[in-house]
Amino acid sequence: MTNKVALVTGSSRGIGAAIAESLSDAGWAVCINYIERADKAEELAARIRAKGGTCITQQADVADREAVFAMVRRIERELGPVSLLVSNAGIAEQRQFQDIEPAFWQRLFDVNVNGAFHSAQAVLGHMLLEHKGCMIFVSSIWGQHGASCEAAYSATKHAIIGLSRSLSAELALSGIRVNCVAPGVIDTDMVQVLGRETLEQLAGEIPLGRLGRPEEIAHTVRYLAENPYITGQVITVDGGFLV
Ligand code: NAD
Repeated sequence: MTNKVALVTGSSRGIGAAIAESLSDAGWAVCINYIERADKAEELAARIRAKGGTCITQQADVADREAVFAMVRRIERELGPVSLLVSNAGIAEQRQFQDIEPAFWQRLFDVNVNGAFHSAQAVLGHMLLEHKGCMIFVSSIWGQHGASCEAAYSATKHAIIGLSRSLSAELALSGIRVNCVAPGVIDTDMVQVLGRETLEQLAGEIPLGRLGRPEEIAHTVRYLAENPYITGQVITVDGGFLV
């Protein structure tokens, strides 16, 4: 067992998968969490193991508190206590405000905010005991700015930044660092609903001239995981989109 054990929520694909692979390359044993598409999670696990990495895969809806705690107990048994949480699982959908039904609003908060809450509480006990640990929350530029048709998503991502900043203040004395990453438009399945034309238009509005890549978010997460003197920060990775 290693003391470098990471849980990356929502890591069967996209940004989470890139984070899990990058952490494994840096010597972390990783739990790949996903809600569906076990095949994608297993594909990633096979790639990691082929490179000599250690990982397990675990289906769990982060909105389900019991499932999250059960997942963390399994990680503790099979890999060791979680010393790095990357709370990445998230869902998004653009809707005009008047079209947001309460159930839609609730589900976004259940996954994006309550999922982060459950995950952080599930790993915290051991971090407090060890007097060390690191949590990294994945927010969004829409957690720092507002945008039309993003009210629900933006509200959840603002909440994540508030959670992360407040936790960093509360946990620093316990040796636990807490930071946040705020990605811009990253080329994953999540943004494909916008359609190629809109994505190309968006890329044209980004000063660096293109969408971001999942690996570029993973790079930032790894940097935050490895730098022992950074806490309470929100790092924006958006190609200069919103300055
Ligand atoms: P994605 O849709 O490609 O992947 C999301 C992942 O989360 C998948 O592995 C999915 O299985 C998992 N997931 C979804 N709901 C879950 C749940 N309830 N429980 C457990 N896992 C769940 O998305 P992505 O683009 O890789 O986004 C990852 C994170 O980055 C999200 O929090 C998202 O809000 C954030 N983000 C994405 C972008 C972007 O442009 N892609 C920009 C800013 C922030």
